[in-house]
Amino acid sequence: MKAKIIDGVRIGREIQEEVRSEVETLKLQGIQPGLAAVLVGNNPASQVYVRNKIRACQALGLYSREIRLPAETTTEQLLTVIDSLNHDRAIDGVLVQLPLPRQIDESAILLAVSPQKDVDGLHPMNAGNLALGRSALTPCTPTGVVAILRREGITLEGSRVAIVGRSNLVGKPQLFLLLREHATVTICHSRTRQLPQVCREADILVAAIGRPALITAEFVKPGAVVIDVGINKVAGAALKDILAADPSLVAQYEKNRAGNKEYVLAGDVNFSSVAAVASAITPVPGGVGPLTIAMLMKNTVQAARMQRNLQGER
Ligand code: NDP
Repeated sequence: MKAKIIDGVRIGREIQEEVRSEVETLKLQGIQPGLAAVLVGNNPASQVYVRNKIRACQALGLYSREIRLPAETTTEQLLTVIDSLNHDRAIDGVLVQLPLPRQIDESAILLAVSPQKDVDGLHPMNAGNLALGRSALTPCTPTGVVAILRREGITLEGSRVAIVGRSNLVGKPQLFLLLREHATVTICHSRTRQLPQVCREADILVAAIGRPALITAEFVKPGAVVIDVGINKVAGAALKDILAADPSLVAQYEKNRAGNKEYVLAGDVNFSSVAAVASAITPVPGGVGPLTIAMLMKNTVQAARMQRNLQGER
């Protein structure tokens, strides 16, 4: 079998176009949804993520504000900033870029963001409402995974799904989002026994592990759909092994090297191995990644609607 390669870039663009037209409609009613992105410190990857989020807002007509704070910011200082954003009428969504510097109490910060403005879906109120099957702002990446599956016409109702990974950011919300779609869900983690066998039971396998190329054909039922959430930067001594294990990464490596970048971005799935048995697979990059920003934009518009008691799509 040769798997269909799911085009996350195209799906992400489609959703962004829908958001753009929704923003235009809201503007006719005098509403411009607004997003504030708070970045603490100088983590280069976080800087890129925040810049991309602000750019997406600008491209879709949302108001945006980037708030940069020094690396030595205290929990109290960050709480003050969040409080003022919670009360700012120009701001419908507040996102705090993670990870935060060590001295900051991350749970206290996530708890301080108003649940109505929690466009990352990480406030316990939103997490709880999702678990209870109530309306909630839901985390962008697992919500994007569901969007991919739906838009690819993959049957969720009654299907068996295995998720590898149980983080609060991806695995756990993914479980509840898929239950909401009436899938039969198994969630696996580092203590799961006989992981390949458990995964091989699934019609749909979602990998959110943070271990490059861990999932091989041995984990996949022939004809299953495989969604790779992982984004792992592999450099140095590990490069040789990963390129040998997954030759599909060689082209990316050659391209990166031509630009003086000595690394590859690998998923959690060994693409070369799994594409031979799956019926469809998301690539890395260009699979789940583009959906994360699209869903953040969608959540911001949803937050703007909810705060004004306007009806909107879930
Ligand atoms: P975490 O490190 O928070 O969680 C990883 C999970 O994988 C844990 O539940 C862990 O189990 C499990 N795990 C680790 N090793 C194994 C193993 N050998 N076998 C089985 N399970 C294992 O990661 P995140 O959920 O935050 O992220 C997962 C991946 O997704 C990363 O590569 C990350 O970069 C990527 N990501 C991509 C995004 C995107 O936009 N596409 C957004 C967010 C994340 P245990 O709980 O037992 O420790």
